[in-house]
Amino acid sequence: MDFNEYRKRGKEMVDYIADYLENIRSRRVFPDVKPGYMRNLVPDAAPMEGEHWEDIFKDIERVIMPGITHWQSPYMHAYFPALNSFPSLLGDMLANGIGCLGFTWASSPACTELETIVMDWLGKMIGLPSVFLHSNQQTMGGGVLQTTASNATFVSLLAARSEAIRRYKSSLGLEDAEINARLVAYCSDQAHSSVEKATLIGLVQLRLLESDDNLSLRGEILQEAVDRDREQGLIPFFVCATLGTTGACAFDNLKELGEICDSEGLWMHIDAAYAGTAFICPEYRKYMEGIEHAQTFAFNPSKWMMVHFDCTAMWVKNSGALHRTFNVDPLYLKHENSGAAIDYMHWQIPLSRRFRALKLWFVLRSFGVEGIQKHVREGVRLAKVFENMIRKDKRFEIPAERILGMVVFRLAGENDLTELLLKRLNHSGKVHMVPAALKGKYVIRFTVTSQYTTHSDIERDWKVIQDYASKVLADEMSEEEEDEEIIPVKEPNKVTPKYRPRMGSLRRKDFGMSLILSNVPFSPKFINGSFAALFDNSNVIVEFAKELSSGNFNGHSLRLSPRRRIKLRDASKQQSLDCAPLSPRHSSLRFKQGSLDSKIDDILETSSFESDSQTNNPNSDIGEDDLDDNETDPDSSPRKQKVVISLQPSMILQSNGNRENGSKSVNGVHLICENCGRSFED
Ligand code: PLP
Repeated sequence: MDFNEYRKRGKEMVDYIADYLENIRSRRVFPDVKPGYMRNLVPDAAPMEGEHWEDIFKDIERVIMPGITHWQSPYMHAYFPALNSFPSLLGDMLANGIGCLGFTWASSPACTELETIVMDWLGKMIGLPSVFLHSNQQTMGGGVLQTTASNATFVSLLAARSEAIRRYKSSLGLEDAEINARLVAYCSDQAHSSVEKATLIGLVQLRLLESDDNLSLRGEILQEAVDRDREQGLIPFFVCATLGTTGACAFDNLKELGEICDSEGLWMHIDAAYAGTAFICPEYRKYMEGIEHAQTFAFNPSKWMMVHFDCTAMWVKNSGALHRTFNVDPLYLKHENSGAAIDYMHWQIPLSRRFRALKLWFVLRSFGVEGIQKHVREGVRLAKVFENMIRKDKRFEIPAERILGMVVFRLAGENDLTELLLKRLNHSGKVHMVPAALKGKYVIRFTVTSQYTTHSDIERDWKVIQDYASKVLADEMSEEEEDEEIIPVKEPNKVTPKYRPRMGSLRRKDFGMSLILSNVPFSPKFINGSFAALFDNSNVIVEFAKELSSGNFNGHSLRLSPRRRIKLRDASKQQSLDCAPLSPRHSSLRFKQGSLDSKIDDILETSSFESDSQTNNPNSDIGEDDLDDNETDPDSSPRKQKVVISLQPSMILQSNGNRENGSKSVNGVHLICENCGRSFED
């Protein structure tokens, strides 16, 4: 492609993008493809000779668009918004054309200088105290653009860790690693999973503290946890407070938490990934009360503020802490203004960085403060409209207060109803939403995303939701009528493939199936299409068995169906939104793709097993020894080995059934294979 062709094709691409965005409502928002769909659409290897642009361009509609979830669509209500806008797109077009890297001031001075200026602009727009601004000559504060909120949290945690190690090294006379091993971080049980990830990588302990009835983390709970940990000789060092939680857009109490952080010497990071944009409107700044106690604050203009991904704005009160954490100073990165200008490479983990400030600058100038305020207020107004529609329909409930542009709702009754509703809605491709777990309740999150969403879009979406809800409830009624029939008692080794379990009645009489499996710290995983629970010691299995045995199934079999795989796995902990809303139904395809994910079981097994109780047979992953040891010696110290139980769709859990096959059971529960009738222990 030469210059002339680039001019021509560039204009065509701009037209294509404008048409795409203008007509986006005509596309189904959630794609109807199966894993591996693209394999048959493209060749196995790259072409030896370059292709004509026309052929490449045609493949956008043929290959790419069928597998796109249309995040810019007004019918997209999943996750949080990830909006773009024309000024943002043009900013990145230019940044990509310039193609500079801005790791040091000298590597492209405009890149660094514009970033410091727009970060100050943005900081002032959201009402940050001036201590966080570059322009404040009295402090070492300032803003930096990171890639993601997760990254910002991790950077903050690493800085807090270095500071804590520095501080306690002299006072306790311990080695760095000894201090690191004692460090404890805190966040609410509603915090995003990126906090857990940061502590996993940072090798520090994390306490997920219980949020109050408003899903807010309060000071008293933090204080108690800190006191408990200090008594045990641990070192509390970091608190991540959330403003606008992922599950329900709830707000931690910064003032209470901040005062404790000050008195206890804890580093407070604030994750306002979504809600941060709202602080451009003064009426929402009340949720920032206590911000002055924070060491770092981050939000994503790449979510609601129409600066397309990636763009996370992060401010730090004392950039010295970042320097001490990330400073490496090789000769080839030195320049004659080193020390006199900001070198952002010391404020982040990678070396290289894109010219992200350009798109942010274009957006701030094109919309102006008032334009962005208008956009935020319209999103909140439409969320209120949707909330009012829900409140008029008594079949639904809203279990958490709506504050900004997100409404959480559910069908009154069992979790399964809402879960089924969401699944059907997503399959329809008419709207797209994802779930969350709020104190044991399965809820659907509805976020107003697009800046083009209208009142009639909301009306249309609500009508779709109501129609599908009517169908789900009608199906449920007919299932309940069927449930009144007698459920056949199954003999363990004579399972007939035609047997259809009545999950409805079991669910109601005994317990919410959605809540069986816990999510911390080793989340259950999909392994080649099977659901596997990972435990770090075998006591958990005994507890799991007890849990089931207390269910009093009257001898009925309880099948773990594929549908049961997507569940709330913990009553209180917020699920990360990357937990798949729909089950991977075609596991064989996943395997064929040869992705790393499809080999996850091999990876887990080979990397974490030290014991002789492991074999390649998933049905024998749980050794009898593990169970018996714990039965006979419940007080024995937890064993270090990990145990994987792979629950195949074809396996059923049998409780209190007869044990003709002589297999062993734990607290009356044993596992048998539906196909061969063999017990789990065989
Ligand atoms: N924090 C919160 C509160 C979030 O809601 C999210 C994502 O939605 C994140 C962090 C992670 O954001 P990112 O994808 O930028 O890492």
